[in-house]
Amino acid sequence: MIIGILGGGQLARMMALEGYPLGLEFIVLEPGPEACAAPVAKQIRAAYDDEAALTELAHRADVITYEFENVPAASVKFLTEHSNEVAVYPPPQALAMAQDRLNEKTLFRELNIDTPAFAAVDSLAELALAMKTIGWPAVIKTRTQGYDGKGQAVLREEADLAPAWAQLKGVPAIVEAFVPFDREISVIAVRNREGQIVCYPITENSHKEGMLRLSIAQENDPAQPLAVKYATALLEKLDYVGVLALELFQVGDQLLANEFAPRVHNSGHWTQNGAKCSQFENHIRAVAGLPLGQTHAQGHAAMVNLIGGLPASEAVLNHTHAHLHLYGKSPRPGRKVGHINLQTQDQQAFDSELKSLISLAENC
Ligand code: AMP
Repeated sequence: MIIGILGGGQLARMMALEGYPLGLEFIVLEPGPEACAAPVAKQIRAAYDDEAALTELAHRADVITYEFENVPAASVKFLTEHSNEVAVYPPPQALAMAQDRLNEKTLFRELNIDTPAFAAVDSLAELALAMKTIGWPAVIKTRTQGYDGKGQAVLREEADLAPAWAQLKGVPAIVEAFVPFDREISVIAVRNREGQIVCYPITENSHKEGMLRLSIAQENDPAQPLAVKYATALLEKLDYVGVLALELFQVGDQLLANEFAPRVHNSGHWTQNGAKCSQFENHIRAVAGLPLGQTHAQGHAAMVNLIGGLPASEAVLNHTHAHLHLYGKSPRPGRKVGHINLQTQDQQAFDSELKSLISLAENC
């Protein structure tokens, strides 16, 4: 079976690396000249909205998936309607929800998934009005195209409104209550074509400058049942196939949904070494129509992102329980170039190696 992937970055690369042992082959549609997935997949080098390239992908692949949620909705529509009717997973309705924060938060509400108070704002006057119900502080975010904290601003007082609105360049936005969360968590959930659902243990996530730095798996966490309930409601409502990541803010016992990603997710990278079947393999199994693999954590597991720089491989691998995953990208500021997974049964070794690996990642 040949899996087509829209996007040829590190997520496509890691999907392919885990799909080969299952006898699967991969072809990516990716315009970039130095695609991370190119060493492990065939590449059609064209824009995501190039209809001839989409047609070629649909003819060469048996099923199509994607590695980022900003795939043009029109391309997915074209693939499902005008090509040889190849299946695209996750389904287009999931993409449409995840691409627009207003749709996404409205869906959360409809499914009784708690979410921060929010309002749609299309002008500075609407923003000022919405603040009367949302309250201070708040966060304004573009409805579309935002990622890694881009396209958003915190509003602390009246004087912040006009500059924030100008910074967003007047595009449709939502304003939401700023949540004084105890911690940020995410749950990685998978549903296959038969409707089988499995979820990984939640991870506790730390961000800096809007980017994920660290994820630590939390086996048997008290928040797991509610996180799974919310993820399951989304998967079933969207008739979903593949991996979905749901990001949540925890305040006391309450979980507030921030957003979901219809794809494999950075906070699930630990599963490559910390679970029997990784998120990448389970995503591929789901879209290929195969039974899903086991998701529990094998001991203590964490992931440290490498952003903007690379430590010497020796320095990482000197840690007994570390696994290095590089994406084949040259480092530049703010660019994710790899990650380190840590997995061991030994709590003491886990704590000391994690501290040392975080420091390595921060100082390279
Ligand atoms: P997002 O792009 O929505 O994932 O936001 C990026 C990061 O900004 C989140 O991981 C949080 O750390 C922070 N953030 C976003 N929305 C809120 C909010 N409503 N309250 C508090 N922090 C937030």
